[in-house]
Amino acid sequence: MYDGIVQELIDEFGRLPGIGPKSAQRIAFHILQTPSFDVKRLSELLVEVRERVRFCEICGNVAEQERCAICRDPRRNAALICVVEDAKDVAAIERTREYRGLYHVLGGAISPIAGVGPDDLRIAQLMTRLADGTVQEVILATNPNLEGEATASYLSRLLTTMQITVSRLASGLPVGGDLEYADEVTLGRAFEGRRVL
Ligand SMILES: [Zn+2]
Repeated sequence: MYDGIVQELIDEFGRLPGIGPKSAQRIAFHILQTPSFDVKRLSELLVEVRERVRFCEICGNVAEQERCAICRDPRRNAALICVVEDAKDVAAIERTREYRGLYHVLGGAISPIAGVGPDDLRIAQLMTRLADGTVQEVILATNPNLEGEATASYLSRLLTTMQITVSRLASGLPVGGDLEYADEVTLGRAFEGRRVL
């Protein structure tokens, strides 16, 4: 334990996801002991990101305008929608450079244990997007774990009544893991080898 404000800083970093007490302490001391570390820039960025960044009104991805850069890009294939749990998954798939369609971010996955049901996700918005017949294929790219699979099977059942091809990423992704942790080659291959449900 440290005195006052130093401990407060360590505690604050410790509240961030994936940062344990040791890392929190390391980050705090790095900031304290590194004169070149631009504290002002970081604090300004934190404030600015909260003020400027919002979520795309169409797909739910992070955006600085009403629509994200992907939804605004006319070169993207509007006949394809890739459904993901999280905006971080969009970034992971974009890094593969394999996919040129659009996205739909659900904002999580169905999880009875965590009390997350279909109504808590952006599923109604997805159905609205599919209504005009532009979309020909929906790729279910939820995480390869229990919640992700439950969400994918819920969506595939929901979409059977529509004239839309529904596919799921090929296996080969680390089971139980998150898409965001898959390497680009594996994720790219999972896209190419996606199977129609
Ligand atoms: Zn968007």
